[in-house]
Amino acid sequence: MSLPLESVAASWVGTANDPAGGFPLQWLPYCAFTPASVSGPEPLTDPAAPMAEQPNPRPAPHLGVGIGAFVLDLHGLRENGLLRDLPEEVQSACGAARLNELMSCGPGAWSALRGRLFDLLKAAEPRSSRDTPRQRLVASLMTPAAQAVFHKPVRTENYTDFYASLHHARNVGRLFRPDRPLPPNYYWLPIGYHGRASSLVVSGTPVRRPHGQCRAGSEPAPVFQPSARLDYELEVAAYVGVGNPLGSRVPIEQAAKHLFGLSLLNDWSARDIQSWEYQPLGPFLGKSFATSISPWVVPMEALAPYRTRLAPRAASDPAPLAYLAEPEETLSSFDITVEAYLSTARMRERRIPAVRLSRANLRDLYWSFAQMLTHHTSNGCNLRIGDILASGTVSGEQPGSQGCLLEMTKGGEIPLCLPTGERRSFLEDGDEVSLRGYANRQGLPLVSMGECRGRVLSSGE
Ligand code: MN
Repeated sequence: MSLPLESVAASWVGTANDPAGGFPLQWLPYCAFTPASVSGPEPLTDPAAPMAEQPNPRPAPHLGVGIGAFVLDLHGLRENGLLRDLPEEVQSACGAARLNELMSCGPGAWSALRGRLFDLLKAAEPRSSRDTPRQRLVASLMTPAAQAVFHKPVRTENYTDFYASLHHARNVGRLFRPDRPLPPNYYWLPIGYHGRASSLVVSGTPVRRPHGQCRAGSEPAPVFQPSARLDYELEVAAYVGVGNPLGSRVPIEQAAKHLFGLSLLNDWSARDIQSWEYQPLGPFLGKSFATSISPWVVPMEALAPYRTRLAPRAASDPAPLAYLAEPEETLSSFDITVEAYLSTARMRERRIPAVRLSRANLRDLYWSFAQMLTHHTSNGCNLRIGDILASGTVSGEQPGSQGCLLEMTKGGEIPLCLPTGERRSFLEDGDEVSLRGYANRQGLPLVSMGECRGRVLSSGE
């Protein structure tokens, strides 16, 4: 089903028509949230505390959709009969606490729901200054996004992290292997490792500095201590919306249809733990202590106008093997700008705004999400609804486009200077990293991926 998502259509929700607002009628990203009326102020809890020590259990999250400065409650829409022209299973999925049930309804249902939401939020033509009763009902189901408490939008059983940015791989490789920065397999396959799904946390959740074995190059033995080289990684996550049975492969031409949407992701990394433990089996405890995801999942249908070709391969690079080869004209990448910001405790005390550390674009990835998905299933591995395939650190070629501190500070050798006079090679306690993403294509409204934020807590030795 193709949707009438005309780029000129306006919403009766005024803030959706703000050209710089980022959440226009054409975007409609999903989230899981607790409406402000239900939640009251959120106590800041330690995510690591046992469940029994958490304050009173809170009501189950509702699914929501972002429109202007508001979150519209899908659960409320369903209860008020505003989704009743949709199939029963879609209505039921809108009453769930996470997006998995909607994902399992399949791409036709995703499109139908999006079309219905578009219709409910679109301004009447000709524009009327008077609200209709239906508009008043829908408006009563909205929570200002600034007051909403967000939760993880998806139940994720498996999280795989790739290494799809050639610039990142090359910059990091140069630090350790100046003569041969890229491993020989880089041009042939999207390199990845299995991450840890249990420690995925939603934006805003504090991240505790991990302990681990660290060994300085000159020391005879490792020591067990809090990480001194804590880093972030600016990434984009793709959610699997259609799985595949164990033993089956997803052909490259089908792969894009298995993806539900994109979010921002911060793959926090303890470089000192990582560099000691990673050989020969790859990342382990240096990564698995926390991974932050943004609350918003932008559906692929909303991303369609921002699709673009993968950056061309250099003439000297080999062509991908047939099972990974997409026709050159395939729009398998996305023109989305991604940025990382840092604010320290001292900066916040002095009311100095967060500083931008990097800006890069997803279109510069060497491998597409479709290629990552096809490669992931090429051995018959089954992907599940809600699984995350993350891009790996998104970096560009130019200075100022490196998506982690390891790269920016050349392994900690060249610290950053901040407006307070503070210097950073790696993250200190109290530092807050915020990832942002947006697309700004001519003739289309600005669209925002929202924010993925996390503040570093002391290791609590
Ligand atoms: Mn990563």
